Amino acid sequence: MVYHCNACKFNFQRFGEVTDCPDCGKQDIRYATAEEIAEFLDFQKEFELSGDAGTLERPASREPVPA
Ligand SMILES: [Zn+2]
Repeated sequence: MVYHCNACKFNFQRFGEVTDCPDCGKQDIRYATAEEIAEFLDFQKEFELSGDAGTLERPASREPVPA
């Protein structure tokens, strides 16, 4: 599931329940819209291509990424 933080506009992916933003810590998060999810996946793809994916939390390879 991809979430969006209303406070800092951060998109992030988590499995399981999420109560606060991993970036700013505020409890002002909601499910990302389809557009935000697409943005997030694009960003993630670019990040992986850059070869510096060490700091980005990624889903386990067995988990399907929502289209
Ligand atoms: Zn935030």
